[in-house]
Amino acid sequence: MSEFETALDLVHATLRDLHDRGAKLSASAEALERLASVPWEPMSGSVQRPSEAPAPIRTQEAAPVVKSSPPRRAEPEPSPREPAVARPLESRVAPLEGTKAERLAAMRGPVLACTICPHLVKSRTQVVFGVGNPDAELMFVGEAPGEDEDRKGEPFVGKAGQLLTKIIETMGFGREDVYIANVLKCRPDMPPGMPGNRKPKSEEMQTCLPYLREQIDIIQPKVIAALGATAMEGLLGATDSMGRLRGRWHDFQGIPLMATYHPAYLLRNQALSEKRKVWEDMLMVLEKLGRPITEKQENYFLPK
Ligand code: URA
Repeated sequence: MSEFETALDLVHATLRDLHDRGAKLSASAEALERLASVPWEPMSGSVQRPSEAPAPIRTQEAAPVVKSSPPRRAEPEPSPREPAVARPLESRVAPLEGTKAERLAAMRGPVLACTICPHLVKSRTQVVFGVGNPDAELMFVGEAPGEDEDRKGEPFVGKAGQLLTKIIETMGFGREDVYIANVLKCRPDMPPGMPGNRKPKSEEMQTCLPYLREQIDIIQPKVIAALGATAMEGLLGATDSMGRLRGRWHDFQGIPLMATYHPAYLLRNQALSEKRKVWEDMLMVLEKLGRPITEKQENYFLPK
């Protein structure tokens, strides 16, 4: 996509977002006329004007914000001027055929180019798609990329990510054996000059959730481990405390899902008892996966 088209898509997505939020949008007849007669040459000169008359201004667009309904299989053919990312998220972005790796790879491009949330498009460095083994039996799901992940384009690479990697390794896996993704694929925007990260909003997660659903649908892990209350809210709409949600099985698209504390919580609360809780959740995951558990693993984080 050329820069010109990207800019137009951004303007378009912003207008649609304003419209969806109930803003009254209007333009003078003169402005519309001027727009319709604008020559098609972009400023960069990289986009060719179609040979025919200018494309008509479309007034009927699919709403970009999608409620939590599962993606539908039937996909309308996008018109030639419509970028893949402008399709409503009920439609799938990956083909139904191919290996898991091929289908995930086919999804990546459209997801990386997503412009559905204009405020996040504006603030993000890049979309953080997900990382790991497309054939993974175990998938970890967090809430959203933070500053480090936004910079590197990979989930869980900051301090909390390093702790997650240790947990994964203590379970007997490597990061490359499992799949790691977030409910929200863009870093939640922060007020200018404000350091740190903010929790994703419920609507942001719901808008993005179809991408994660599709990743899960392709990977078909045997077990999902949801990290923290926000991920549980995004995945299952669960609003209970983590104290109530963790340590038991839930279901996501027919896949057993274990809820546990976010590694960032363990960084804030260094008590052995909290580490043990997360570890017990992971022991349940290992058991569900039919993995052998050593005595040493069994006894981690028990008081001496
Ligand atoms: N926290 C998350 O939930 N996800 C990340 O990718 C990083 C930190």
